[in-house]
Amino acid sequence: MTSAYEEIRRSGGHILAYTNPRIFSLRSIYWQRMGESLATRTASGDVHKESYSDGADFAVVCPAASAWRGLFADYAEMLAGQYSADLIYFDQVASAPPVQCFAGGHEHYDPGLWNTHYMGLLDEAANRVNAVSRDASFCIEGCGDLFIRRAPFQSYIGFMISGTRFNFPELFKYTFPEAVQADVVYYQEETPGSMYADFLPSAKRPTIRACLERGIMVGDFFGVMDQVLDDTEWWAEAQDLLRLRRLMAPWIARAKFRDSADVIEGGGLDVRTFQREGSPSHVVVVARGGADEEIPVRIRLHGRTASGAFALTEGGQVRLAMSQAADGVSISVRAGTLSVSIIQLDGDGAA
Ligand SMILES: [Zn+2]
Repeated sequence: MTSAYEEIRRSGGHILAYTNPRIFSLRSIYWQRMGESLATRTASGDVHKESYSDGADFAVVCPAASAWRGLFADYAEMLAGQYSADLIYFDQVASAPPVQCFAGGHEHYDPGLWNTHYMGLLDEAANRVNAVSRDASFCIEGCGDLFIRRAPFQSYIGFMISGTRFNFPELFKYTFPEAVQADVVYYQEETPGSMYADFLPSAKRPTIRACLERGIMVGDFFGVMDQVLDDTEWWAEAQDLLRLRRLMAPWIARAKFRDSADVIEGGGLDVRTFQREGSPSHVVVVARGGADEEIPVRIRLHGRTASGAFALTEGGQVRLAMSQAADGVSISVRAGTLSVSIIQLDGDGAA
């Protein structure tokens, strides 16, 4: 594993190490020695079980069992310390249903404090990780504001859980701007026979592209589920978008997602903004839709004035036409594809 991690680093990659602190396989050779005493139990004393797509049975383990918390704290410390993992992924924490636990011998006084105990599990693991690494962080499956303090990266399969209509990513980002959503994208039609075919809804390429664009517009991180990453047309398209996301990264760092709250006029485009106060101050304008032409977009600056505007492109920064009015500033955005523009603000501090 060490050499595999080193190879990833040499090629400029970062490492997310996966583990699941929620379930325990009933086929494991450690089930009787370890799993059984840590499993959640119903009021009648039965082990709470779940079955997954290949028919494998798992027990749901109790996050209040101290040996279980200790195991994952050890594991996280090892991944961050010895292996220098950047992110430690705890599967299912905020996505799978909570389970009441009536087992004896676990550190709980009430059967229904599931989230409290998961917070305890994350606290213990994070304290150990922070002692050995300044940079490592946690990612959990699912979005849960309760867990942001310990797991600022929160993952989901955007298209599967929210389609393209319900604006969950925007709502969650606007409400909890400190959370980084990690969207897992896939293009099922392109990968027939995928191991995920049973539970992932299939979608046309424009739909998957719209999901990827929506994710970029809220500053998501991305994972991919496709097992075939041949250089198809879709992946060329996706890679163009992901390069734009990489260009955005320094500009949205420490900036607050404002959704469409500051958009006075969007020229028919779908427009989102991030605002960064401090030094320097700027507004990031992400827009999509429209024809391939320059379209004026007007943004509210809350009493601030702008000193300039430019578009982020792979070739560098391209200066944009700009005009100021009493209620904000207008910039000409190049539409037709996703665009990212920066409005630089005069002076620093609040106004
Ligand atoms: Zn328990």
